[in-house]
Amino acid sequence: MGASGKMASFRLPPLPTIGDIIKLYNLRAQKQLSQNFLLDLRLTDKIVRQAGNVRNGFVCEVGPGPGGLTRSILNAGAAQLLVVEKDTRFLPGLQLLAEAAPEKVKIVHGDILTYKMERAFPKQLAKKWDDGPPDVHIIGNLPFSVSTPLIIRWLENIANRDGPFVYGRTQLTLTFQKEVAERLTASTGSRQRSRLSIMAQYLCNVRSCFTIPGRAFVPKPEVDVGVLHFTPLIQPQINQPFKMVEKVVRNVFQFRRKYCRRGIEMLFPEARRLELAEQMLLTADVDPTLRPTELSISHFRNLADAYSKLCEEDAGLFSYEFRDELRQKKKQRRTSSTIEEEAER
Ligand code: SAM
Repeated sequence: MGASGKMASFRLPPLPTIGDIIKLYNLRAQKQLSQNFLLDLRLTDKIVRQAGNVRNGFVCEVGPGPGGLTRSILNAGAAQLLVVEKDTRFLPGLQLLAEAAPEKVKIVHGDILTYKMERAFPKQLAKKWDDGPPDVHIIGNLPFSVSTPLIIRWLENIANRDGPFVYGRTQLTLTFQKEVAERLTASTGSRQRSRLSIMAQYLCNVRSCFTIPGRAFVPKPEVDVGVLHFTPLIQPQINQPFKMVEKVVRNVFQFRRKYCRRGIEMLFPEARRLELAEQMLLTADVDPTLRPTELSISHFRNLADAYSKLCEEDAGLFSYEFRDELRQKKKQRRTSSTIEEEAER
């Protein structure tokens, strides 16, 4: 794609409505691809406004489907729009849009979970990490089945400054099942506080934009939908590798109703569990009787730092997973009871 700032006041010519496109190409929603379409262009315009100023910008839309949000992005004046769609049935309708916006739209038939966005836009768009966000935006009304694995992948990309973040602090405007959106934005002490809250908020400023009622979609999903905007932070709030933070956070939240000490113990092999968990909590200066939901990001920063220190002292510690130990024990128990049964025969 070439960088071009011309045609800033672009408007799409009159086109068949999204409803007509759906009828014309017989685009019945497929459940296995979590297809719920937005036909109301005022709503899709509202989503695009949350992305900030996309005029003359470079945008990637994930899962354009019949193209409602796609039209809003083009009408907002994006210079270049790359759409990544998995379902071939939508390609002719998207082609129609591409023809109505000459040289602006690039259609990729592919899976956003494997698509390499680092090569999608011109290198000269890249900004230094501590500068303002680049003129690259990712916008999408995501399939629910893809949104959680995708945001986790992109958070890891933010931590490593790769993938869509080779251009700098690329901003994301995405939809999530409302319950997931609430988890991503949940503050310390709230009922929805979870692994996703910590992972998203230590790396990004996450803004809850608005909720779209389920009835606005065709077909109507069972749940409402939350629109979120993510801006990667210049300085992550935890300065440890993503995988290390993820491991600490995952273990802490696996017993979300218990004291946080319980999950922290699971970071360590049974033989030294209590001793090392106590040492980690002391070093981190975290009250062991706080519940996981009561821990702030700075608590997690201290915990990740303390765990990293223990891993430096014991090279094998980081690869320890208590579920593997559990599985191994079960296997051993099964083997020894089989041996006993055979000996009895
Ligand atoms: N953006 C459209 C709208 O707002 O009406 C469609 C939204 S629908 C919830 C999700 C879209 O993502 C569908 O078009 C679906 O085919 C597409 N999709 C599903 N999984 C995908 C994947 N892994 N990569 C790219 N597109 C995907």
